[in-house]
Amino acid sequence: MAEFLDYFRKERLPHIWCPGCGHGTVTGALVRAIDRLGLDKNNIVLVSGIGCSSRAVGYLDFDTLHTAHGRALAFATGIKHASPNLKVIVMTGDGDCTAIGGNHFIHAARRNIDITTIVMNNSIYGMTSGQYSPTTPHGMLATTAPYGNVEYDFDVCGLAKAAGASYVARATSYHVTLLIDLIEKALQNKGFSVVEALTQCPTYFGRKNKLGGAVETLNWIKDRTVNVKAAAALSPDKLEGKLLIGELYSGQRPEYTASYGEMTAKVQRTYNDYKGGNRGCELNSD
Ligand code: SF4
Repeated sequence: MAEFLDYFRKERLPHIWCPGCGHGTVTGALVRAIDRLGLDKNNIVLVSGIGCSSRAVGYLDFDTLHTAHGRALAFATGIKHASPNLKVIVMTGDGDCTAIGGNHFIHAARRNIDITTIVMNNSIYGMTSGQYSPTTPHGMLATTAPYGNVEYDFDVCGLAKAAGASYVARATSYHVTLLIDLIEKALQNKGFSVVEALTQCPTYFGRKNKLGGAVETLNWIKDRTVNVKAAAALSPDKLEGKLLIGELYSGQRPEYTASYGEMTAKVQRTYNDYKGGNRGCELNSD
């Protein structure tokens, strides 16, 4: 087991997240999951887009790529395609992943490409001063929704599962032990894995909605959730308005880069046959 700080670029610390922000907790959970699994950090690539959460990769001492807004999964797909043996992890926020990056998200899930995606969902655009995002709950306040958000929010996990992700889970920055466990499982899944981490942005979401400080905002998040195992014993009225946390879906589907590799090997064999004089072969033959 490495020292915790060995996973960080110490020269980049202290971080610039606001006091009480939940992104540090999620970043710590990812590092602990990697450490528990004993993964070789030289075989890991961390990719992020733009936003407060995406700053995480700048603090972490792995091969990292801090890309354009919404494009983390596009870059990650290219990396995984070029080097399927790498462990590719995306750290993204709710705006980055489900607004401008929404199409990349659903298509990465559809392909079931072997990328672990941590979606840090604080229900608001923090870095650009509190605009509402696709995950801002209906009726909640934001800089651009001073009378309440008229839109309804995405269920990030429901979206990922419906689009084809083979591992889907949710926790919060309050339920840290659960969060580490779920990230650990996601990292072991061979396919597209999504862990949604509900996090607190006290500076914008908490303040705009008069929830109080970091602790009160974190408690507000905690009170919105129910563990999926406990939920099985609860009546529908007790689950009204609640988000389930825990492992929400785990299934087996062919992984994209493995299927792509098989296809290119088949093409190569067909080409070799052709060069070898078997001119009657068909491109789609085995
Ligand atoms: Fe965290 Fe919000 Fe501050 Fe961004 S603005 S660092 S999300 S608390």
